[in-house]
Amino acid sequence: MNTEKSTEMFSVAGNLMPGGVNSPVRAYRAVGMTPRFIDRAKGCEIYDVDGNAYIDYVGSWGPMIFGHAVPEVVEAICGAARRGTSFGAPTEGENLLAQMIIDMVPCAEMVRLVNSGTEAVMSAVRAARGFTGRDLIVKFEGCYHGHSDGLLVKAGSGLLTENVPTSAGVPKAFAAATLTADYNDRESVEKIFKEYGPNIAALIVEPVAANMGVVAPKPGFLQFLRKITAEYGTVLIFDEVITGFRLAPGGAQEYYGVTPDMATLGKIVGGGMPMAAYCGRGDIMSTVSPSGPVYQAGTLSGNPVAVAAGLATLKKIREDVGLYDRLEEKGRVLEKAFTDAIDRYKIPACINRVGSLMSVFFTEGPVETYGDVEKSDLTMFKKYFASMLEDDIYIAPSQFEAMFLSDAHSQEALNRTVRAIDRAFSTLPGAEV
Ligand SMILES: *Cc1c(COP(=O)(O)O)cnc(C)c1O
Repeated sequence: MNTEKSTEMFSVAGNLMPGGVNSPVRAYRAVGMTPRFIDRAKGCEIYDVDGNAYIDYVGSWGPMIFGHAVPEVVEAICGAARRGTSFGAPTEGENLLAQMIIDMVPCAEMVRLVNSGTEAVMSAVRAARGFTGRDLIVKFEGCYHGHSDGLLVKAGSGLLTENVPTSAGVPKAFAAATLTADYNDRESVEKIFKEYGPNIAALIVEPVAANMGVVAPKPGFLQFLRKITAEYGTVLIFDEVITGFRLAPGGAQEYYGVTPDMATLGKIVGGGMPMAAYCGRGDIMSTVSPSGPVYQAGTLSGNPVAVAAGLATLKKIREDVGLYDRLEEKGRVLEKAFTDAIDRYKIPACINRVGSLMSVFFTEGPVETYGDVEKSDLTMFKKYFASMLEDDIYIAPSQFEAMFLSDAHSQEALNRTVRAIDRAFSTLPGAEV
């Protein structure tokens, strides 16, 4: 495979941006390779600057539920841009999008639009603190909630890849206000609440953990979180930046039938533009400025171009009754390809899947906790990744990320992927052929 131009551009980028990138995992360090510089994408295919075409399972890390360059979304973006790209004043589109989110997401009584998932989570946590008058928050090890200071404690995604348990530059005092529990481990949560319960403002969780690879909540775990937070007057925040609109029109809270007090949305909600949102109970959201004392603002918040992209995407989701069944079916096809390959070549690996989100872990299953995730063989992952890329299958260059399916993945694309999975596993060390 020719990667001459990508290699050249990456070496130029190295002197211009830290690590040559604007977000760490893009640098391919965990797989020891050169990242592909992307020229364009359409549907389920992504093209690099050397002219290679790949079937894309990164999907810009989540937003692309309908694939790339979706005509309705592109039209909406162009139409909005022609009327002006930013006003810093209210627009009707913001009403329409807020109403759409309120109609779709069970916990949403009011919404605030922001520019990134990081900002959504940071703001939701501040609102929860303002509402409760408490300082402490609880998060789970391996869950990623963006890069605001207090949430970079035992976080997932690129932080697992880079093997940095937390980040430099985060004051100890900030980290001290973040307590960490173990995902899918009720006792670890009970212990924290027993000791600190009355001082805990919020518990935040990815309802399906998807930044340590995909780990589903055990049956009853989310219900348990709902119950214990209600008992202590703690705000339950579902970070649905990935799961929102991905698992169901109402996200994981609809999928699992558990309604949190607040939710954060990102990725899909912006239709591929930089936009995110936080939403929740009216009494909590009313603490946000200017109706309440919790300050939060944004020059580009509710940006008309991003709002148009979000509206077009959510409209398409609402009108498409078969969408989630199709995604489930496509997910099943790939899941079967993985289990078949694992069985056929006797590879110690397992596959976790929830709808159109999945991860293969190179360890005997089941993988239900962060401790299980840590047992994954990263050398095996590297070899698997390289083989998939060689076969033009573009997946996240890290064990600790999800594989994102889109509605644009055709039967033919899935077939090619199934063959690539088989070949990748057949060449792994220890494969019985
Ligand atoms: C991606 C992600 C974020 C951060 O969103 P950004 O837009 O990258 O700031 C927060 N929470 C979860 C669960 C995410 O997957």
